[in-house]
Amino acid sequence: MRKVFIHTFGCQMNEADSARMIEALAKSGWAPTGSPDDADLVILNTCSIREKSEQKLLSALGRYRPLKAERGARIGVGGCVAQQEKTRLLKKVPYLDFVFGPDQVGKLPEIVRRVEEENVRLAETEWLDSSTYVFPQADPDFARGRATAFVTAMKGCNNVCSFCIVPYTRGREVSRPVDEILEEVRGLTSVGVKEITLIGQNVNSYAGGVSFAELLRRTAAVDGVERVRFTTSHPHDLSDELIALFAEEPKVMPHFHLPVQSGSDSVLVRMRRTYTVEWYLDRLEKLRAARPGIAITTDIIVGFPGETDEDFQKTMDLVERVRFENAFSFIYSPRPRTAAARHLHEWGEVPRETAVARLVRLQAVLREHSFEYYASCIGTQVEVLVEGPSRYDPERRFGRTPENRVVNFDGDAEVGQTVMVRVDEATPNSLSGVQVGHSPAEPAQRGDSGRVRLSVVS
Ligand code: SAM
Ligand code: SF4
Repeated sequence: MRKVFIHTFGCQMNEADSARMIEALAKSGWAPTGSPDDADLVILNTCSIREKSEQKLLSALGRYRPLKAERGARIGVGGCVAQQEKTRLLKKVPYLDFVFGPDQVGKLPEIVRRVEEENVRLAETEWLDSSTYVFPQADPDFARGRATAFVTAMKGCNNVCSFCIVPYTRGREVSRPVDEILEEVRGLTSVGVKEITLIGQNVNSYAGGVSFAELLRRTAAVDGVERVRFTTSHPHDLSDELIALFAEEPKVMPHFHLPVQSGSDSVLVRMRRTYTVEWYLDRLEKLRAARPGIAITTDIIVGFPGETDEDFQKTMDLVERVRFENAFSFIYSPRPRTAAARHLHEWGEVPRETAVARLVRLQAVLREHSFEYYASCIGTQVEVLVEGPSRYDPERRFGRTPENRVVNFDGDAEVGQTVMVRVDEATPNSLSGVQVGHSPAEPAQRGDSGRVRLSVVS
């Protein structure tokens, strides 16, 4: 069998798309390989959210170029850069064979066949709207041996955040019909998957026949589903119904990723985020009341055009107030076609050194807060769903707590089992410990966050 290697950049949507590419190509006789060196086909599934992501594509392409001369491998680029650049990418990179947009994943085997048989260079980047788009269905056979899976709930985004290129690379929102989603979930649990993460750029604006909260409820009710997660959510679509679900449905895990972007209302207005800091804090307060101990994580941009020292201080104040469990933080990167890039000079470009200094200050505080959460687990037992061997030591196991904290531990549990682990050490983004039992604690013993405080620690 000929072999395909996929290099995935960026978000969970891209990870899920790459999985669908492998499955589609398998039907045409392609086998996946973990190494580009024995691949006959190399696909780069790209991200264009920041300029750096695009630069990463170009340097990776340079690394794969010799494969073409040495073994005649074909090279294709998919994802957001493909959608943005279209045929321009074929002109810029003469050794590239084909370019395809995120909506063309199902057509990939046909594109590859044409490239090979007709010896043509192709760019397929047509948008498909809700009347024509069919979400590729995951093949459960490929999920065998896995404890967790992403399930696509929707694609695209109808918001127009002024910094963001996603609406131009992923198009308008299309929600996947609820029955299709549940069928995919049933297929995944039939091969042993225990945790489902529903994904979409703006997943909580889901409109595929039921509300997003109802979709989560129905997903949790599928036989074999033990944990339900979702990402990413926009604060203005965080409904009371969704908050109430956190009090009602224990299979929905106590973790909410809610990107705030800035702690300054005037910056949020220029970002076109359509909520205020007060609204954001109110949502968090209600979430924390609905599920005490819930882990709140976020995304923050610094150096957005016109961000003053006072604006940045407001972000720092918000961070102190919320004490996020984890956060992705970025320096603003101007993206083509976006409103913020067009208004960059009018609103005021923040000098690079200022933006870097702000990011360094912010990340130091974020790290401190993360570490406090992780260190507070030392001496407790946490419930862990085992996902596989630890990345750092294959003799150890790796899994996550309900709050999505990464745990590496000594033990003999199998993938898909949920076990209790005694935590002995913590870093700002992981826990380390020892398995102390095969079954999770009885619900009565458990705190809302699934954590048990030990009375005696040996
Ligand atoms: N849909 C999510 C939301 O509304 O929050 C965000 C999805 S985006 C793929 C992930 C994160 O990338 C954003 O939350 C934002 O913090 C960051 N991001 C997006 N565009 C950016 C830009 N031009 N410069 C820097 N960071 C950016
Ligand atoms: Fe981008 Fe805003 Fe849509 Fe998120 S909600 S994907 S930041 S446009």
